[in-house]
Amino acid sequence: MDIKNGFVATVGNTPLIRLNSFSDETGCEILGKAEFLNPGGSVKDRAALYMIQDAEQKGLLQPGGTVVEGTAGNTGIGLAHICNAKGYKCLIVIPETQSPEKIELLRTLGAEVRTVPAVPYKDPNNYVKLSGRIAQEMDNAIWANQFDNLANRNAHYETTGLEIWQQTDGNIDVWVTATGTGGTYAGVALLLKEKNPSIQCVVADPMGSGLYSYVKTGEIQIEGSSMTEGIGNSRITANMEGVPLDDAIQIDDKECVRVIYQLLQQDGLFMGGSVGINVGAAYAMAKKLGPGHTIVTVLCDGGTRYQSKLFNRAWLAAKGLLPD
Ligand code: PMP
Repeated sequence: MDIKNGFVATVGNTPLIRLNSFSDETGCEILGKAEFLNPGGSVKDRAALYMIQDAEQKGLLQPGGTVVEGTAGNTGIGLAHICNAKGYKCLIVIPETQSPEKIELLRTLGAEVRTVPAVPYKDPNNYVKLSGRIAQEMDNAIWANQFDNLANRNAHYETTGLEIWQQTDGNIDVWVTATGTGGTYAGVALLLKEKNPSIQCVVADPMGSGLYSYVKTGEIQIEGSSMTEGIGNSRITANMEGVPLDDAIQIDDKECVRVIYQLLQQDGLFMGGSVGINVGAAYAMAKKLGPGHTIVTVLCDGGTRYQSKLFNRAWLAAKGLLPD
């Protein structure tokens, strides 16, 4: 018998998929970790589970308690599923700029959702800071605090990173992915470097994020903006501290959309926006290194979460992003 014990036991152990059109074109093996196949539909199920388990183990989260978090959506969706499965309540603070699909899904899952204007991190009303204050003012509540809670990157060190190492038999040249909290990038990078220090760990960065300049110059500089959700950062989070940063690749929205539509039309994969940045960066690394390299990235979530935006011609046209 092969039966998973509920939602929680179904998180992780996702397949690693060869992205055929990109691999064939470059002569590299470009591989995507299929995180959209997690039971809550994204890479963030792993962090959500580890943060809740960590709070339980520390005695911070009691039966009937509330998990509070500021999120671009996917962490909240993962938390809401796990709260339902474990008997907790869930309160989510989310910028109103995030896709309506994710906000509606959070409500459907039973989370209390507070949408707030999108303001920079330095503003006291930023969604992350607001969620911390709400948690502090509530009884029997914890703040998941995904950006600075190291249980997040531990999830990826112990599970995602190890799975990638085992699925490739250690045959990896490059690990490349975009960062939101940095949990996925950091946890996997730390595990892979420990196994083989010659694996190159590369940050993929959308426009409007400061990590590309940070890796290249040591200074965080923000230029431009991106329609992608859940990635990009203007600071070094605790999850990103002390983590290998061998190189960085910047991908703009035009290339992101081209990649998303190639994945859809040639690889049969219906993916969310951050995947366009990730696979775009993996493709750029393949072009830079030449044939014969194995490059691993993340397929963070699926396209259904962005149907009203990325897969809506009027929306794309208004942004000047219609693919050729
Ligand atoms: N892609 C999407 C769609 C996300 O929601 C997130 C999480 N915010 C990421 C990528 C980045 O993951 P991490 O927080 O582990 O850096």
